[in-house]
Amino acid sequence: MTLGEFDLINRYFAGLGAPTSALALGIGDDCALLSPASGDQLAVSTDTQVAGVHFPAGAEPDLIARRCLRVNLSDLAAMGASPLAFQLALTLPETDEHWLAAFSAGLARDAAGFACPLSGGDTTRGPLSVTITALGAVATGEALRRDGARAGDRIYVTGTLGDARGALEVLTAPPSEANDYLLQRYWLPRPQLAAGMELRGIASAAIDISDGLLQDLGHITTASGLGAVIEVESLPLSPALVELAGDSRAREWALTGGDDYELCFTVPPGHEQAMRAAMAAAEVAVTPIGRLVSEPGVRCLDASGRDIAVTGRGYSHF
Ligand code: ADP
Ligand code: MG
Repeated sequence: MTLGEFDLINRYFAGLGAPTSALALGIGDDCALLSPASGDQLAVSTDTQVAGVHFPAGAEPDLIARRCLRVNLSDLAAMGASPLAFQLALTLPETDEHWLAAFSAGLARDAAGFACPLSGGDTTRGPLSVTITALGAVATGEALRRDGARAGDRIYVTGTLGDARGALEVLTAPPSEANDYLLQRYWLPRPQLAAGMELRGIASAAIDISDGLLQDLGHITTASGLGAVIEVESLPLSPALVELAGDSRAREWALTGGDDYELCFTVPPGHEQAMRAAMAAAEVAVTPIGRLVSEPGVRCLDASGRDIAVTGRGYSHF
């Protein structure tokens, strides 16, 4: 409580993340100054995480920090942008130095790991909430948007789906090895930055899966004026999720569970080979899960080609 606002910023946030040439002026003035390479567009995305809504109120502060930064970097990944810097708007109920030290250490670790320094922010008092604005760069006109897909393009996802949904089941259960994997998937999502950058000029559309595959793929189909068919048996599932939930529930969670932060992207027929090479270069596993069609809506088919009704439609806040 004795720590003033400026001491707090200096102690816990100044100089967080390694300096880069793109961040010409960081924390301490009225604005930060960024110098993106000429010919680049600035990609900007903001995400707020509220205690008790987006993460459990008593969660480890370093995990809260890292998860919030990674969630924002995932949006840059989905556009094919590379990180430049990020802004942090922090609302704190009190000045708890143990909490701040752990939060700052977690944030510093990932800021360094993703080469994305903290460029500034705001600090206010109130119920705990963390807002991060990620700033990235992408060559003009090359960003991966939601509206570029065409009928006949194949739909791919990176990694495995449903793990973060599985983690919600085990958050209160006693720890085990499989649970550790799922919890890690929830707390430390891996923004697919390398994949996103490699997919520029190859994928026709992309999105990161934050609210569940059905809902997020639905954003691509709506923006592109199309529909999609998903082959449910092809969804990539982790062994840990199948062990926890069984095959059928794991598939349902892969379709509707949020918080995985994998990429869903679409590939025109002529770009399949380039995509395979690009994903090999990024060392990212990808799985084809269906295709885009001209009839609107997202259909789910079982192994014998019959329609499946999916109960949930992903996590919806309202
Ligand atoms: P102003 O009143 O001009 O908005 P502030 O007093 O809010 O300035 O902030 C002073 C400096 O500290 C600014 O450079 C701002 O970006 C930075 N800052 C404030 N809060 C944070 C935070 N939580 N994390 C990082 N930088 C912060
Ligand atoms: Mg301010």
